[in-house]
This record gives sequence, structure tokens and C-alpha cells, in this order.
Amino acid sequence: MVVNEISAKSILSASKIYTYVINPYVGCQFGCSYCYARYMKKFTGHREAWGEFVDVKVNAAELLRKEIRKKKRDRVWISGVCDPYQPLEARYKLTRECLKILSDNDWPVVIQTRSKLVVRDIDILQGIKNCDAGMSVTTADDRIRKIFEPRASFIMDRVNSLKALHDSGIRTYAMIAPILPGAENLMEMLEGKVDYIYVDRMNYDYAKSVYRNNKLEKYLDDEYFEAVSQAIADNARRMGIECHIVF
Ligand code: SF4
Repeated sequence: MVVNEISAKSILSASKIYTYVINPYVGCQFGCSYCYARYMKKFTGHREAWGEFVDVKVNAAELLRKEIRKKKRDRVWISGVCDPYQPLEARYKLTRECLKILSDNDWPVVIQTRSKLVVRDIDILQGIKNCDAGMSVTTADDRIRKIFEPRASFIMDRVNSLKALHDSGIRTYAMIAPILPGAENLMEMLEGKVDYIYVDRMNYDYAKSVYRNNKLEKYLDDEYFEAVSQAIADNARRMGIECHIVF
């Protein structure tokens, strides 16, 4: 793993998903097999494989303090092309510092991760008036998680993190994307822990060899995606959880 400390030029960027996005890191230690953010490699000059390099924007908080004074207050997404709670965050606390600044200045936040480290920051997230904390959960089967996302948190750790966030009064959501084999059983785990869910397919091209090598090709199928998302939506309705299927 190559880790570089860098000085970024800016931190609060325009986003198509929400108004702004903050990426405290370039690259992601989790290195999920299907990750679309690997296109970032092109812009960084890194030759290492996706998941094997991280540039740490050590001046993230300093930049944010300056930039929020100049920009109009609006929702900030953390993060778009890295996980804000990848293991290096335990040491660098860049996400935590940025959250503190956004909280102190009353900016709305949407934070999304695959890591149980998010619970470390419950104290700050609770203080943000308009805050949504999301966990990506792609399957209920940890054996499948291990195949596609071997370095990200165990599924039960993610579910327990959602519960801790939710029990602390923070609005929570699950991002069921990409739909991996075993996603059909997720709602039983999520009941009582989330306010809403998103369900999405993604570009599975990067992970095609992983499907093939593990004899899982039958799950790369429109009918499967359709059936799973309908099952999830039906369960969500029964549980009174808002469900957005976005494909
Ligand atoms: S955690 Fe997110 S950004 Fe990181 S590798 Fe996985 S999908 Fe990509």
C-alpha cells in the first residue's frame, strides 16, 4: 500500500449528486472489486492497482475552513470517490475534522461508508441539524461480501453501526448498491435500523471476472436484479421503510 501525504488545492467540490462533495482521500484502501471510482487512477498518475494507493489530503480541514466562508451553504456529500472511513481515517481524522467544521457552521451533510469506524463520530453527527448517515450494504451473506469487498467491514458490523447511529437519533439509510448475490435477505437485518433505503444496480463490468471465477454469473442477470429489488421494496413497505429503487 502506497500512502502519500499531499496538499490539495481545494476540498469542497461541486457534485452532480448533491451540491457539494468532499473527498478527504484520493484512492481507497477497501479496493472493492466493482468500484467505479477506480477511474480516478487516470487523474492521479498512480500505477498501483486500485486499492493499493491513497493520497491523504492533510490540509483538508484548513481548506474547508476557508472555502465555506466563500460558498453558499448547501448539502455536502462525504464522499464520492473514496470511503471517508477507510482505515487511514483512524489515524488522520480528516473526515472527523471536516464534519466538525460543517457542524459548527450549520451545513447539511450526507455521509456514506462501508466502515464501522463511522460510529466513532456519532458525537459530531448528532450535533449536525440536517444529517443523513448511510451505510452501503450489498449482500446479507458475509461469504459474498468477502469475495467482492474483502477489506471492507463485515456485514454485521455495518448493520450494527447503522443501529448505533439510528439509536443515537441520527437519520440513517442503507445504500443497497451494487446488488450482490444475497441482497434479497437484507431487509430482515435492516428493520428498525434505517429510515430509508436506496436500491441500485451499478456498472458490474469491473467485477465480471470475480463473478466468473466464483461461478456466480447467474446473479448477473436483469431478472435477478428485478426480482431482488421488488422483494426488497415489498419488505420495506411492510416494515414502513421508505424505499427508492433508482434504476
Ligand atoms: S469503499 Fe467505495 S470507494 Fe472504496 S473501493 Fe469500495 S466502492 Fe470504491
